[in-house]
Amino acid sequence: METRVPRARRAGIKKNFDLTKLARRRCVKCWRYDRRLDRHHKGHEYLFACLLPDKYLARYNEFRVEDVVDLCVKHHKSIHVIYKRRLGAWGFWTLLAKQDGKVTFVQAERFRKRLVNECHVWLRRGAGLRLKQELASSS
Ligand SMILES: [Zn+2]
Ligand SMILES: [Zn+2]
Repeated sequence: METRVPRARRAGIKKNFDLTKLARRRCVKCWRYDRRLDRHHKGHEYLFACLLPDKYLARYNEFRVEDVVDLCVKHHKSIHVIYKRRLGAWGFWTLLAKQDGKVTFVQAERFRKRLVNECHVWLRRGAGLRLKQELASSS
């Protein structure tokens, strides 16, 4: 019994020093928490779920931690403007038109992965320092 008490206390102390657990939800781009926050899918899975529901819809609805980031309304709008432009520059909309509004899973994955990367690059330019560190250590 006596040996258990200090062990539990140590665990408590460790927890208090874990900043990620103490931090409140913030926009990962500007670090503000006083605006409404949206969970943004980094790979724009919404778009791909519309095009290939069998492949993407279930996962989209899961809002997996590795797929989404918190963004304030302002920055959520900004990243989607960037996505739209990039997809244009990469020929996605042209491809979609050429194939009667359809894409294959292989094609979709290629664009989805580029969007995820685009989102990471965009976030690195922002004030999301903690995310920056997280990305550096995971890639
Ligand atoms: Zn923001
Ligand atoms: Zn979004």
